[in-house]
Amino acid sequence: MAVIRDMIPPFELYQPSGVEDAVRLVGEHGDQGWVLAGGLDTFDWLKDRIKRPAAVIDLGGVAELGGISETDDGGLEIGAMARLTAVAESGDVRSRFPLLAEAAGLVATPQIRNQGTLGGNIVQDTRCWYYRSGWPCYRAGGNVCYAGTSRSMNREHCILGASRCVAVNPSDTAPALVALDAEMTVANASGERTYAARDFFIGPEIDITRMTVLEPGDLLTRVRLPAPQPGARWYFEKIRDRKSWDFSLASVASVLHVDGDVVRDARIVVNGVAPYPVRSDAAEAVARGRAPDDETGQMAGEAAVQDARALRHNDYKIALMRNLVKRSVRDAA
Ligand SMILES: Cc1cc2nc3c(=O)[nH]c(=O)nc-3n(C[C@H](O)[C@H](O)[C@H](O)COP(=O)(O)OP(=O)(O)OC[C@H]3O[C@@H](n4cnc5c(N)ncnc54)[C@H](O)[C@@H]3O)c2cc1C
Ligand code: SF4
Repeated sequence: MAVIRDMIPPFELYQPSGVEDAVRLVGEHGDQGWVLAGGLDTFDWLKDRIKRPAAVIDLGGVAELGGISETDDGGLEIGAMARLTAVAESGDVRSRFPLLAEAAGLVATPQIRNQGTLGGNIVQDTRCWYYRSGWPCYRAGGNVCYAGTSRSMNREHCILGASRCVAVNPSDTAPALVALDAEMTVANASGERTYAARDFFIGPEIDITRMTVLEPGDLLTRVRLPAPQPGARWYFEKIRDRKSWDFSLASVASVLHVDGDVVRDARIVVNGVAPYPVRSDAAEAVARGRAPDDETGQMAGEAAVQDARALRHNDYKIALMRNLVKRSVRDAA
């Protein structure tokens, strides 16, 4: 169990000033190292003494990871250390990718958005309180899930994608990036590789200890958004217990390409319902070739939840997901 103490256990602090140095340090320290971005997720873990890295690599001085710039093909490239406020308020993001600006602007509070980074928001760990309180569950290397039993408190947990672990991905920007078909660039000692956003987030059936493809020694360096297609419509909605600020219970992000009055293509992504942002192939298939109206939205919503299974306290999430998907088709603008 977590015991809050007044001091973080000691670690070696490294403060590289360039990407090359940062990649080298992250590689050298491997699973004994910890990447520090804005620190909002990091310091919880360290102060509770649940994660005890030997070395912390602080990216705060790596200026080249902080920018937002235009790409040759009319898209945008956002550095992993770009602050959420910068993403939400950037003129380029707001005019061309309002879906991402909206999602980033709904993360937590202004103070958290000023400090938190896009990279940290994508890579942050799940908020399952059993795990975050230090219970030795599957995700922590143990052999039980405390949230999945008939007596567990699991109102915020998943309805899809469970595999021993029933925790959800907490990020607001993650579903927006999947809906926008973004690409994540990851660097390590062997070079760089790129992932489609959809493949960047992984479920517990692949590795129960991680929520993304990142392994020890990997550094997320930037996120690339392809040029928006003319006439694309988008929708983002986040449902939370408290209106002022809170993690989402569920959120939806969609991008629809509408030609005349017919949906030609759709990307519909729901988060907060699975250990990763769920791109609903079934809902997209229903929407394609139909008018983006109430009836299509209703059908898409039904399709999206066809495989959903509630835990003891979260059957409300099935209705929530159905309605979010419906609105994301009907009300995309
Ligand atoms: C009170 C509170 C409320 C919150 N509410 C919300 C909310 O409503 N919606 C939401 O989406 N989030 C919310 N968050 C989460 C917050 O937005 C994230 O904790 C934050 O975005 C993490 O970003 P950071 O820059 O602080 O990263 P850090 O905390 O420094 O890092 C987070 C994780 O990512 C890893 N990491 C960071 N950058 C990289 C990189 N470039 N390469 C590899 N690994 C990396 C770190 O090692 C760590 O594991 C909330 C947090 C708090 C404390
Ligand atoms: S849901 Fe996942 S993180 Fe939470 S207790 Fe179960 S195994 Fe651990």
